[in-house]
Amino acid sequence: MLLVLLLALQNPAPELYYSVTVPTDRSAYLVEMQINNPPNPSRVVIPNWAPGAYQLMDSWQNIRDVVAVSAAGDPLPVHQDSPISWVIDPKCASRITIRYAAGLPDVNEWRRPNNRWFLRSSSGVVDGPRTFMYLDGWKQAPARVTFQLPAGWRIATGLVPTTIDSTTFAAPSYDVLIDSPALLGRFLTYRFTTAGTPHRAVVDLGGGRAHAPAVFVDMLRRISTTAIRVFGAAPYQDYTYIFVGGRGGGLEHLNSTTIGVPTETLARNPHGARTVSAHEFFHVWNVKRIRPVELGPFDYEHEVRTVNLWWSEGVTDYYADVILARAGLDRPADFAQRLATSIGNHRSNPARLLISPERSSWTVWDSPAVNNSQVISYYLQGELLGFLLDLAIRDSTDNAKSLDDVMRYLLDHSAGERGFTRDELAAAVRSATGRDFEEFWRRYVSGASEIPWDDYLRAAGWKVVFTETPAVDARIGSIPPAVQGGRWRAVVAPGSAAEAAGRGLRTGDELVRINGRPIVDGTDVTAAVRAIGRGAVVVVAAVRDGQPLTIRFSAGTYNRVRAQLRDLPGQTAKMRRIRAGLLRAAR
Ligand SMILES: [Zn+2]
Repeated sequence: MLLVLLLALQNPAPELYYSVTVPTDRSAYLVEMQINNPPNPSRVVIPNWAPGAYQLMDSWQNIRDVVAVSAAGDPLPVHQDSPISWVIDPKCASRITIRYAAGLPDVNEWRRPNNRWFLRSSSGVVDGPRTFMYLDGWKQAPARVTFQLPAGWRIATGLVPTTIDSTTFAAPSYDVLIDSPALLGRFLTYRFTTAGTPHRAVVDLGGGRAHAPAVFVDMLRRISTTAIRVFGAAPYQDYTYIFVGGRGGGLEHLNSTTIGVPTETLARNPHGARTVSAHEFFHVWNVKRIRPVELGPFDYEHEVRTVNLWWSEGVTDYYADVILARAGLDRPADFAQRLATSIGNHRSNPARLLISPERSSWTVWDSPAVNNSQVISYYLQGELLGFLLDLAIRDSTDNAKSLDDVMRYLLDHSAGERGFTRDELAAAVRSATGRDFEEFWRRYVSGASEIPWDDYLRAAGWKVVFTETPAVDARIGSIPPAVQGGRWRAVVAPGSAAEAAGRGLRTGDELVRINGRPIVDGTDVTAAVRAIGRGAVVVVAAVRDGQPLTIRFSAGTYNRVRAQLRDLPGQTAKMRRIRAGLLRAAR
């Protein structure tokens, strides 16, 4: 005890202060990291990946001009010991400051607003993992950050404000610091309160006006209220929805989310971002608090694998469906249609019988080659497994228990210091419901057996009807880049026209253009494919093994599988109870 005390006196813990400056030329965020009581040596690291986006980032490409100085301003030796880390000899200084510039090397990319990280004349989003280095060994130390901004710029972040000034915020640890993106600049702010807790939406449309803001904010209020009702209370002091007119989908954070949505989408329909908003908001619980054991504390230097992304992402997709229906943003028929569409997509994909949800979760970091170029999304698998589990739990308990009970159980038991393992997840379902799902796990979670839909759907008075109708075969799917900032990759259905072409497209080919349309992300692939008519010539510019290639093929036809949920004749009272229970909050 005495020894520990003496050591503590001799080596006071490092204190961390960051500042982020937006320079006039907007070339990069200029970062200063001040360390009081620096360890000797001090190793600082920029993360190689970001929680929520399970891919490497090549983040070393974004860091420039790393220097270190002592409190007296004397330069200190800096040695780069890996592409993402630097070692500084503090030379007995009681305080050192490390300075660097953080920004994408491609200036066009850097100025283009997305949901993660950009800087342009009127605004910017600070992505923590690509902006802030951590002090190796001290990720659990508290930190403060100050933003130095152009005149008139404001700050929206989930970080805790301080009494020091309006531009300085506090974080209890590095993990929280980088899990709190900041929108900087000129933007619109809408506030609302639900469950006694302040919420706000900040919207950066690059000077554009929001369309029907009252309808937009009412949507967010309903989503928040409905999701909170599943658990009974909000687990944060305040919540910030950050919307950026641009691309990128959503990313979840501890008490905020960043959502990139095309400005045209919001202008056309103030509910246009409802699905992504519900998904990201439900992540407040599922993944940010209820998490697989591997997802925290994070190892930012290496990829982190888990078999449970189907639960963290896919079941979150299921809850987005549920929340929208319970919130009255979708009609009950829309809920059934969303799930029917997913069942049809699942049934159309032969990979469903080859790659289990646990396998597709585990191999998210890998090339599709590890699964013989078969691809199925753990989002899709998990959405459907969530639906099946909910039906099965309600069926076996006469609607007394549901997936909501499992979520609440997990929040109570697996949302602390340690997350859940695969076996603990299955055990939690048993504990929360009193029913055993080992067989379910074996067949459909660890296994890739065909799902007997009607056995499950019957509980809510549905059956599925599959139909095959001729459709234009220009089937080209897509998956995100292997490394962030890279090109989106093709997914080619076995037997499709794209595959059968003379020099056919292959799963994993990097997509450059489809029929002249540049491919920035998956939404371009969907739009390009949708525009192709029967018999049309399709020209795909791609890159394979670093070599450009052009693939031409004629769009043929194929039998597209669709699913519909139909009401069973002779609905029982129990079926009606379960159907109503799905769409009505349990509390
Ligand atoms: Zn997600």
